[in-house]
Amino acid sequence: MTGAYGLDPSVLDSHVLVLNRNYTAVRVTSARRAMCMLFKRIAEIVAVEDSEWASYDFESWREVSEYKARYERDNHEWIRCVRFELAVPRVVRLLFYDRLPKTPVKFNRRNIFARDRNRCQYCRREFPTSELTLDHVLPRSRGGKTCWNNMVCCCVRCNVRKGGRTPSEAGMKLKTDPVKPKRPPVITLRLSSDKYATWKQFLDNAYWNVELRD
Ligand SMILES: [Zn+2]
Repeated sequence: MTGAYGLDPSVLDSHVLVLNRNYTAVRVTSARRAMCMLFKRIAEIVAVEDSEWASYDFESWREVSEYKARYERDNHEWIRCVRFELAVPRVVRLLFYDRLPKTPVKFNRRNIFARDRNRCQYCRREFPTSELTLDHVLPRSRGGKTCWNNMVCCCVRCNVRKGGRTPSEAGMKLKTDPVKPKRPPVITLRLSSDKYATWKQFLDNAYWNVELRD
């Protein structure tokens, strides 16, 4: 299917939020995979327009895209097909999937870096991932656990300076106390970009978990 488009691979790698049938966010996928789900008719597009949302199947999205291409081209990214253009969707909803996300936040290196936004939690500077290490706040030799509350992003220099000591022994101060994030940090990172602003209302737990009455 990728052969049908493919002019700009980076657009197809854009991130799309996937909701289950009940509008609960379950994961993030690529625009490429989202388009496959639309073609197979197992998902529909959810677009936020004037703070209300509307759903579209592939055909109706194609029509709407024509309008968007004419009047709001700069607000979207575009997939160029042979005879038409499609606005890249930001949110899709699975039509036959009821389940909730299994493990909301995996404890791994990537998610710790994302939670700390690639900032060394001691000197507060931002580094590329390759220049960061993980630090046990309370050193392992003192019984410090390998868990969300005791692991932080740390640059090589601060790691060497801290050595096998606690922050107070080393005269260093943590930027924030590390905690387990409520949602996958990779999603939180994207929320800071305007491009993914429409994700916000689907990730606001307070809004979605509130009991509805009629
Ligand atoms: Zn540092």
